[in-house]
Amino acid sequence: MNSLKIFITLLIIFIFFGKASAAVIIYPKSENTTIDADVTFFVGNEDINNTLRINSEPVELHSSGGFFYPVNLKYGENIFNIDNGVETKVYTIFRPENKKQHEKYVVERFNAPQIYEVSKDNVPLRSIPYDGGINRLQHFDKGVLLSVVGDYKQFYKVQLARDDFAWIDKSYVKQSVDNDYKPAQINSYTYEENDKYKTYKIKLNKKVPYILTERIAYDLVKNQYESKTVGLDLVIYNIENLPEHKYELYIPKKDKLFGYKSYYTNDNELVIQIKNTPSVDNKLPLKDKTITIDPGHGGSEIGAVGCLGDYEKNINLKIALRLKDYLQQAGANVVMTRNDDSYVSLSDRVEISQNNNSDIFISIHNNALGDSEAKSNRSGASAYYFYPQSKELASTMLKVLTKELSMNDDKLRQRSFAVVRNTQSPSILLEIGYMIKPTDNAKLIRSDFQDKAAKAIYDGLEKYLNDL
Ligand SMILES: [Zn+2]
Repeated sequence: MNSLKIFITLLIIFIFFGKASAAVIIYPKSENTTIDADVTFFVGNEDINNTLRINSEPVELHSSGGFFYPVNLKYGENIFNIDNGVETKVYTIFRPENKKQHEKYVVERFNAPQIYEVSKDNVPLRSIPYDGGINRLQHFDKGVLLSVVGDYKQFYKVQLARDDFAWIDKSYVKQSVDNDYKPAQINSYTYEENDKYKTYKIKLNKKVPYILTERIAYDLVKNQYESKTVGLDLVIYNIENLPEHKYELYIPKKDKLFGYKSYYTNDNELVIQIKNTPSVDNKLPLKDKTITIDPGHGGSEIGAVGCLGDYEKNINLKIALRLKDYLQQAGANVVMTRNDDSYVSLSDRVEISQNNNSDIFISIHNNALGDSEAKSNRSGASAYYFYPQSKELASTMLKVLTKELSMNDDKLRQRSFAVVRNTQSPSILLEIGYMIKPTDNAKLIRSDFQDKAAKAIYDGLEKYLNDL
């Protein structure tokens, strides 16, 4: 009896104080959760001496102990037993029945056009009535007058010209006091240039809508668009004495577009300001260039969480601070959107870059996946841009990152991320690797790798500037 008591006591001590503890699950965040997707994944870590099984299937452990394990979800309740041979954790994931039907896209047409006025700054005009994806045609500041001809859900349908329509969120416009939508007059046209900018000014008698787009070179032999920009196309709508009341102007630029902005002054002058491409000394390409580094997330926004529990925000900052050193040593003027673990809003990050007249903006992140992407096998580095003028910087950076860091190429993508929706300088977002993929994660948490990542971004910048 005595020896049995001792054995039981030892067993209890072992269970409570030994290695005997359950697997650490980082994702899903809770043991009872709802996920509206047909697949999801478990991310976490386990002692590599143990055998981890999820619903009796062995889970591959990385030498760091980290794991990423995709699972299927059926409708209703899905039970997962996570067993490391010592203790079993039970996760219950509820997948709701998909009741979403394809909604009919019925636009309510008004009896007569109504005149609305943009009521706040930086309001997107969209090609379709949907808040998301790549559908922004232009951003308007307060006071631009619009002819509204119908509505769909939270959007008004705007008529720009006889056959040109667009959409604007109802909450960013108000009915104009005078219901007059007579075409506007162009009163004067001026052009100025100095060593920094070329500026076009078009004086009107009211603020009418316009769309400014980057023109991309077309390769007639290959029958496709090149990544090279060749200037800007401006269309101003509702201008008198012109066919369809459209004023169209092509603004050529021989060298690469490197930032521009457009706005109305209080006295209805439309200003298009185009930044000159900086001159580059090939021996010191970064000298006197203003580079804004944006370490993603911060403060209450932790970003993705890695297999071993590390926060993305901290890794982003470490890489960014190393990059700052490299750039400063090369004579660059570095602007940081954050230097410590503080919260900075997305719009403030863009504003910091603009207020400092940045030549280049780089946001540094590390990736995770959505539930539905669980089986995509994605890992490695990716680069994101929104405006065509930023595409080449993103693609150069991705090539250098994948090569110098031996990361998988997780592609170059155009995405409507707020921090890269900035026309005033080439602006990109980099995902160095995946926090939730064990192999990437094991690299990302090492300080020598963080330093290598910073050096790779630095090399990418240097290469991009030298190729200008
Ligand atoms: Zn992030």
